[in-house]
Amino acid sequence: METKLITDITVGQICDGFVYNEFEGKGLFGLSGKLVIQPEYQRNYIYADGKKDVAVIDSLLKGYPLGLIYFVKVNDNKYEVLDGQQRITSFGRFVTGKFAIIGEDGIPHYFGGLAKDLQDKIMGTKLTIYECSGTESEIKAWFRTINIVGVPLNDQELSNAIHSGPFVTKAKEEFSNSQNANIQKWSAYISGDVKRQDYLKTALEWVSKGNIDSYMSLHRFDDNIVELKAYFNSVIDWTSAVFMDVESEMRGLPWGQFYEKYHSISYNPNEVHEKLKELYEDFYVKNKKGIYEYILSGCSDTKILDIRIFDEVTKKSVYAKQTDQAIKKGVSNCPLCAIGHDSNKKRIYKINEMDADHVSAWSNGGATDISNCQMLCKTHNRAKGNK
Ligand SMILES: [Zn+2]
Repeated sequence: METKLITDITVGQICDGFVYNEFEGKGLFGLSGKLVIQPEYQRNYIYADGKKDVAVIDSLLKGYPLGLIYFVKVNDNKYEVLDGQQRITSFGRFVTGKFAIIGEDGIPHYFGGLAKDLQDKIMGTKLTIYECSGTESEIKAWFRTINIVGVPLNDQELSNAIHSGPFVTKAKEEFSNSQNANIQKWSAYISGDVKRQDYLKTALEWVSKGNIDSYMSLHRFDDNIVELKAYFNSVIDWTSAVFMDVESEMRGLPWGQFYEKYHSISYNPNEVHEKLKELYEDFYVKNKKGIYEYILSGCSDTKILDIRIFDEVTKKSVYAKQTDQAIKKGVSNCPLCAIGHDSNKKRIYKINEMDADHVSAWSNGGATDISNCQMLCKTHNRAKGNK
């Protein structure tokens, strides 16, 4: 990765071939066609408020620095503006007569009406530009290190920048558009901020099975997002068909992964609803978010639910009772060792060598209270837990 400081490019050179698109509200090209001012991933031009744009021209006329500008070198004949597009578009629009500034005489002046020396001052101003070239991942790492207008780009915004093109444009229209009427429905399953690309990120994560960057790279120049949309809708439709309920714990779960793993299994939505209700009401279920995969995977893997464990008082009391009885009988205080045939048959374990176990498994309705607690040696407890 190389970064190069360029200090000899002038406003006039940037403005050569400046194109501004009124309809899209974007500065498009400059630097004799070599510079893409507003790559598709950038926000639209927002300085056209008669203040920020005028301030840029003021700075140029007064000789104040405009601040650092960042270019990404795409190839020898093409650059993209990474940071600075608002400032560049401001002076580009001024130089091409799109707005006026109020002079000291109180009269609006367009560029064409300025005194020649002022025109020259603007056009001759040299900019401070950092040019960056390298592989995509290098540029991505570099992006991370600079603060873009005070708000660092997040991962998906960086990926949008790196893979900018027709695919990203269309994908953003669908998934990054807060005006999209579907957002409300999707927000039951997806967490995050539409504008910060969290929905787009989720959609891409699902369709790419987690390989967002390679998927974006592969589809960069596609002129449609048919597959992305279809996959996303399949996941949402499947999820809302299996789970009639909408609970806040559903938001942000890996529905794409669930869909991949479980969509060929059939579920009875009414039974799912009943099971869900039962588990939500179960005091022993600590991880409510885990309920969904627990149900999808056939209600067997209780680890997902993070079942509440026996407290210390219960364990000590059960240990004392068990040990007392074992010593009287002359067998091990681990009931499984006691019925075994190896050297541990008569072993009395210390409490820290044992773990509490549900006699009747929680998944079979066994409660987490003293009547259902037994102490097993660590080996046997582990062996039982793995069954
Ligand atoms: Zn044992």
